[in-house]
Amino acid sequence: MHDSVLRARLGSIRERIADAARRAGRDPGSVTLVAVSKTFPVTDIRTLFGSGQLDFGENRVQEGHAKAAGLSDLPLRWHLLGHLQSNKVRKALEVFTTIHSVDDEALMRRIGRTAVEIGRQVDVLVQVNLAGEATKSGAAPEAVRGLVDAALESQGVRLRGLMLLPPAVADPEDARPWFARLRELRDSLAAEGVPADALAELSMGMSHDFEVAVEEGATIVRVGTAIFGGRQGRV
Ligand SMILES: *Cc1c(COP(=O)(O)O)cnc(C)c1O
Repeated sequence: MHDSVLRARLGSIRERIADAARRAGRDPGSVTLVAVSKTFPVTDIRTLFGSGQLDFGENRVQEGHAKAAGLSDLPLRWHLLGHLQSNKVRKALEVFTTIHSVDDEALMRRIGRTAVEIGRQVDVLVQVNLAGEATKSGAAPEAVRGLVDAALESQGVRLRGLMLLPPAVADPEDARPWFARLRELRDSLAAEGVPADALAELSMGMSHDFEVAVEEGATIVRVGTAIFGGRQGRV
């Protein structure tokens, strides 16, 4: 992709995020944009870094590893968005600063143990499957408290909040109730006494619905296509 096109798209996404935040009476600085670079080359990432973009998202450990290796001169923050297999935890921790997709207690504890072994802490989010979609990862809402407790008991992980990949809908407005429900789940955990800093982040909203997500309280939006263009093949 031509550098100037990429930069222009990034700029326009940033403006739309800021507008959505203001509409909701929120500080635009309270929303982090993760540029989802899966399938796109390191040259594109370098271009966006030149415009001040530091947060990048990948779905696969291997792909994230390869890109981070090619960009090790840049102070980037790598976000793992895709499902993490337990045999790839160690490799994931070599690269990713935040794992958005933790949906299982055993996985949470393994991430914590492995992080302690290699002497670091990793930020984690609990991925919630609000609609109970069989094809998607994510913990059932009633399992979230167990995951939160497992995270709070694990030294190597720093729980930061919740992540949602809602059912695909044509009209972004139809995603709004799911975003609102994730916020409500966060609020109910807070009311149960889960510490506020463990619930600070709501990772929700993608290319077609990030503005609605911001209006509903997203603190992290994950935008791929609207910045990089369409992806080909399996991601
Ligand atoms: C691919 C992906 C995104 C980005 O999706 P776009 O529609 O390209 O913005 C966000 N979150 C997750 C979990 C993804 O897998």
